[in-house]
Amino acid sequence: MVLGCKKQNTSGKNFTTLFEISNGTETPEYSDVISYYKELVDTYAEISLFEMGETDSGKPLHLIVFNADGKTKLDEIKHSPKNRMLINNGIHPGESDGIDASMMLLRDIVQSDSLKNKYKNTLISVIPIYNIGGALNRNSHTRANQNGPKEYGFRGNAQNYDLNRDFVKQDTKNAAAFAEIFHTVDPDVFIDNHVSNGADYQYAITHLFTQHNKLGGTLGKFLETQMRPALESSLGAKEIPITPYVNVWGSTPKKGWSQFFDSPRYSTGYTTLFNTFGMMVETHMLKPYKIRVEQTYELMLSMLDFTEKRSVNIKSLRARVVEEVLSKNTYPLTFEINPEKEPSLLQFRGYEGEMIDSKVTTGKRLFYDRSKPYTEAVNYYNEYRSKKEVTIPKAYVLKNGWSRVIERLDNNQIEYSRFKKDTMIKVESMHVKDYKTRRNAYEGHYLHYATEVSRDTVDAQFSKGDIFIPTNQRGIRYIIETLEPEATDSFFNWNFFDTVLQQKEGYSSYVFEDIAEQFLKDNPEVQKEFEEKLKSDKDFAKNPRAQLNFIYKKSPYYEKAHLLIPVFKVY
Ligand SMILES: [Zn+2]
Repeated sequence: MVLGCKKQNTSGKNFTTLFEISNGTETPEYSDVISYYKELVDTYAEISLFEMGETDSGKPLHLIVFNADGKTKLDEIKHSPKNRMLINNGIHPGESDGIDASMMLLRDIVQSDSLKNKYKNTLISVIPIYNIGGALNRNSHTRANQNGPKEYGFRGNAQNYDLNRDFVKQDTKNAAAFAEIFHTVDPDVFIDNHVSNGADYQYAITHLFTQHNKLGGTLGKFLETQMRPALESSLGAKEIPITPYVNVWGSTPKKGWSQFFDSPRYSTGYTTLFNTFGMMVETHMLKPYKIRVEQTYELMLSMLDFTEKRSVNIKSLRARVVEEVLSKNTYPLTFEINPEKEPSLLQFRGYEGEMIDSKVTTGKRLFYDRSKPYTEAVNYYNEYRSKKEVTIPKAYVLKNGWSRVIERLDNNQIEYSRFKKDTMIKVESMHVKDYKTRRNAYEGHYLHYATEVSRDTVDAQFSKGDIFIPTNQRGIRYIIETLEPEATDSFFNWNFFDTVLQQKEGYSSYVFEDIAEQFLKDNPEVQKEFEEKLKSDKDFAKNPRAQLNFIYKKSPYYEKAHLLIPVFKVY
């Protein structure tokens, strides 16, 4: 907190928060958070409040904006030459640290002339609580391992979705409202505040920056070599040790760990699609609430300090990204840890852990001994490389009628035009060759993965109304990563195109026998292929059904839409 800062202003309104009154043990209810910001808006010219979209709870999402120059106009934010920071809180409302830290941060800035002046070149946009439905579902138990606050909200939203998996698929109204805020602000920097589960160690706060190789190019390099070290040393100067998010589950961090890979379903993976520097903050569940909130507050100040100073630099890097992506010709869809690079060494401050007999179950349990702190070098595998790349087309064409996809393109301000008349063009088509599907429900879906497509160049007929999506635009990465079926969080993998996986028409064998016979006579090349398969494939030779089906699939009777992705690439 800013020491000596007065919380009561001349109007007599008291802006001391519940967190402070309770000595760092409580977080306010949703309605109290919103009333607090409304009072702040009424009292200080530099704070503005907007209602943006609706959430599944029925309540609107709010956006608070600090602007040292006075009230802000919504449509002017993204054109502002200032450093634009967006802070998201309460995506998991049980992890309320950012909710309290942001309330104090904005108050302290507007109440201090020196801070107002210090951040005069920054627009600080804050979502007070993103998961409103979850925040209204208050309790004291669902964060079983967490050390405060006394009461808090629940992880699932009003429809029990985890909003931090919903940024691409947008099953919730929250995600659509978030997209509206995100594209209204077009943040240079994005912070998403969380509390971590997992291993025990000495740190009260960890940073989870978007994976730098995936962010890629000059942005990724800037993140890894400048932004991250600057944040770490700024917090170090405040005597707040910080480490990369400890991505360790079920064992101790001594063996090292790999960087969390934030695909676009996650907040920072999504913001990367629009070339924003994204980070999640993960405070540690076992540390007292007061310390976690105070360190979240200090981290946000440190990010403000760095980005305010480097704003021109950051903006010029962001402005070049589309050109940079297009100049590469290919685009990475999936990543793996780079085996050719040595892991980084972290001087890690942990607690000795051992496996001891459980007093509850018949098994062993992991026990961290806090009386045995250590500082040791551990391996941190934070270099990834692309595993699969695709050629970037000039444009994608999406068949009209896939309205749920078009709706998401619209929500993300993707530019496209519609065919004015029926048109024949040469395109690359994509057929689903292979994929796996999760056996258990995951976020309202049975998600596909390990998807492979075959690609053919064809002359395809498009109809008036089909949409033509050029890649040379701000959302190029969003377009590729949602429309390429093999990308981790593609619309295909999230089940948007599942209807093409099912054949709609078929045949009766006794009727098709005669058609097949004639078809083979008329098509000697298929006849030849058929005979070779009979010779080379023993199972096939014993399976008359498969044989007839082989001929059917070669014939014009087999429906063209089966396994065909309704997205085409134009070079
Ligand atoms: Zn979280």
